[in-house]
Amino acid sequence: MLDERWIRSLHVESMRRADLHREREPHVLFQASTIGALLEGAFEGDLTFAELGQHGDLGLGTLNHLDGEMVALDGEFFRADVEGRIHPVDPGERTPFAVVTRFQATIGERLPASERSHEDLLVCLDELVPVAASSCAIRLDGCFPLVRARSVPRQEPPYRPLTEVVGEQHVFELTDVEGTMLGFRFPSYAEGIEVGGYHLHFISADRSRGGHVLDSRSGELRVRIDPSDDLHVELPPAVELGDPDLAAETHAAVEAVERG
Ligand SMILES: [Zn+2]
Repeated sequence: MLDERWIRSLHVESMRRADLHREREPHVLFQASTIGALLEGAFEGDLTFAELGQHGDLGLGTLNHLDGEMVALDGEFFRADVEGRIHPVDPGERTPFAVVTRFQATIGERLPASERSHEDLLVCLDELVPVAASSCAIRLDGCFPLVRARSVPRQEPPYRPLTEVVGEQHVFELTDVEGTMLGFRFPSYAEGIEVGGYHLHFISADRSRGGHVLDSRSGELRVRIDPSDDLHVELPPAVELGDPDLAAETHAAVEAVERG
């Protein structure tokens, strides 16, 4: 272990790739690099998807060269290209930013078929997450009358900051689609290391379309939530754990990049 710190109620451990060990504990969130590094244009990480798969079977992120949006579901890794088309990820490919967990939900709920907005969905989730939990992983399976999503085009060095690259993102709408929305909720004080608030990606049940979720309307949903207070972070060379005091600065950039 390289560094261990508490950021309020979130326990963060960081380590280098050589020090990683296979994650056996459930309810631990594992992350490659930091959102702060990604914002600055660190689009090449050192962790392979084979290694990432040893730390979790559900999650999200991107690929080296910022080559689309990544979705991990049931231990399979997928890439949504800039048009939102889904491709399998080769285990030898690497990631500059990803969050995964060995998903073991402790909360399960069914939301009725009556259609709800994305804001209302997030309110439903807030009510289901225990007040004491600082963070959680989320899996939503069901029907979505609308998923508004985006993906990003592959970049070549020298890399520009993510806030500039996002200007080239493609936004697309999927309508009346069955699928899985999944991701995480982190506290705002973790920003700099993570995306504060909800970060959700989508993949259709037929594994044809997906991306980073900007908006949705949902129908009947099976909700599963895995609360966690433990975040393990793998830091590529030259990336350090961000100073949480810079969170305010990071917040504006994260908002611009993640909320589209
Ligand atoms: Zn995303």
